[in-house]
Amino acid sequence: MGRYLGPVCKLCRREGIKLMLKGIRCETAKCAMEKQWRNKPPGMHSWRRRGAGDYGIRLREKQKVKRYYGVLEKQFRRYFETAERARENTGVELLRLLERRLDNVLYKTRLIAGRRGSRQAIAHGHVMVNGRKCDIASYQVKVGDRISIHPREKSQKYAKAQMTLLEGVPYPPQQGWLEVDTTKLQATVIALPSRDDVIIPVEEQLVVEFCSR
Ligand code: SF4
Repeated sequence: MGRYLGPVCKLCRREGIKLMLKGIRCETAKCAMEKQWRNKPPGMHSWRRRGAGDYGIRLREKQKVKRYYGVLEKQFRRYFETAERARENTGVELLRLLERRLDNVLYKTRLIAGRRGSRQAIAHGHVMVNGRKCDIASYQVKVGDRISIHPREKSQKYAKAQMTLLEGVPYPPQQGWLEVDTTKLQATVIALPSRDDVIIPVEEQLVVEFCSR
C-alpha cells in the first residue's frame, strides 16, 4: 500500500497541530511548530488566506486524521466504508479502526520510535504477531494479540536502540489497552481502543459529515 513520501512538517503546519510524524525530533526545539516563523500554514502567501468555510473546516478535520495515521485517500475511504457498516457511531468506529492498525499499535507500545519508524520496522520484518512475522502495517490487531520483536539479534538490537532513544520522551503516552513488557520486547492487546484512547484533537463528526457528502 502506498504512503506519503513528501515533507511531513509541512503537514503539521497545514493542520495547525503537531501530528508527531518525525519521531524523537517532534519533541525537540527543532520541531517546525515550535518556531514562531514556521508555525503557520506553508506557502508564500499563507497569511493572505481567508478563514475556511463549512467545507474547508470539514476537509481539514478529515485531512488531519488521514495524515496523523499515515493513510492515503483510497485506504481512508475503505476504513470509512467499513465504519459506516458498523453498528457503533461511524466517527468513533473510524478512529478505532485506524487506532488498531499494527503500525499505530507498535508506535503506541513505545518499542520503536515514531510512526514512520514503526512502519519501517514492520516492513523490514522486525515485528511478529502471535509468534509469526507480520509485515503488513495495516494489520488490524485483535484482543489477545501479542506483538513482539523478532528474536533474531539484528531485530533485538534495533528495538533496544530505539527504546534508548525514547528514554525521557513523554510522547506517545502509555495506553491502557496495551500491556507492554519492555524486558521481553513485547506487548499484548488487552482491550480494543476506545474513543478516549485517541490522543489527536479531532472532531470525528465533522470527518463523517465530509465523507458522507
Ligand atoms: Fe510535525 Fe514532528 Fe515536524 Fe514538529 S517535527 S512539525 S511535530 S512532523
